[in-house]
Amino acid sequence: MTETILSLLARLSEAGDDAILPGELAAPFFGQAFDRLLAKRILIEQAPLSDWEVCDACECGLPCRPIRKAGDAFRAECPLDRRQDVILTDNDLRTFRMNCNSLAREIGRAAGFSSEPSEILDGVWHLGSTPSARAIFLVLARRALLREELGWAVRAAARSMPVTLLASALSPTEALRFRESEFHLVATFECLKLTADGALFAVETSMFDPVQACRARLVVHRAARSVILDGQIKVLSAQSFDLLLILSSAALMSPATVENRQIEKKLWGEGVHRISSEVREPVRALRDALAEGSSDPKSIRRLIENRRNPNGYRLMLLPEQIELAL
Ligand SMILES: [Zn+2]
Repeated sequence: MTETILSLLARLSEAGDDAILPGELAAPFFGQAFDRLLAKRILIEQAPLSDWEVCDACECGLPCRPIRKAGDAFRAECPLDRRQDVILTDNDLRTFRMNCNSLAREIGRAAGFSSEPSEILDGVWHLGSTPSARAIFLVLARRALLREELGWAVRAAARSMPVTLLASALSPTEALRFRESEFHLVATFECLKLTADGALFAVETSMFDPVQACRARLVVHRAARSVILDGQIKVLSAQSFDLLLILSSAALMSPATVENRQIEKKLWGEGVHRISSEVREPVRALRDALAEGSSDPKSIRRLIENRRNPNGYRLMLLPEQIELAL
């Protein structure tokens, strides 16, 4: 069995409360952990199936075929062709429905929140706030995650506290939308573990805090051309982004200083002769863009340091503070 019961839960919860788990898919997971999911009503067993889908390309005209008991097993009979009959076991007739509300309750408990989670929007729960005054939200179904009003509903419930969103794993482009809102995203099922004791789950709550989760001050995604500095998304022009990429790549190596003529060559290409003072303009634009919205714009501007002999610039961050992605 390659899939774990947690990734099964992740997959089911992404589909939301309508998700039905057929017994034949559930059967490999039957056991103690599965029973506890039933006991906690995260999975709810439905009435056994009494009919089965018709066979492929059947011309019987039935919407479904009845299931009849046949000895120890069951038989879904095709009225036209006995060879198409399907033999079913007890497990095949079982089905389970996901109950996202119970899952939210257990995750909230395991994360140490004493009060019940409140559902602020269909499929979106406010779990509570951490000792470091962060509001923690859980979004299970993907359709809830993609709703337009999610941002303002979360912000309203967070009452100006910084927000951590537990959600399904997102693509970088999808995640960007939430980073722009300055929401810290955590993949729900990456901070969850199943436990053997009564609690069902253990939650790695240190992941709720972006400072602890990510040591890099500067995160540059080349493909998405996105920049995050000190947890804030920065809006950079194409030229500022290129310049930051040059400086941050150099800062990861040695020497960290990039000479003016190298910057010119990379920004404007070979054969373009300009006086070196012109590099000042893009540097100023980059400093402006990085400092924009920062609580300490002066120190942010100083991150791009002027160098003499040779003349150039250096990004004043340690390699471990820089994350260059893609
Ligand atoms: Zn048939």
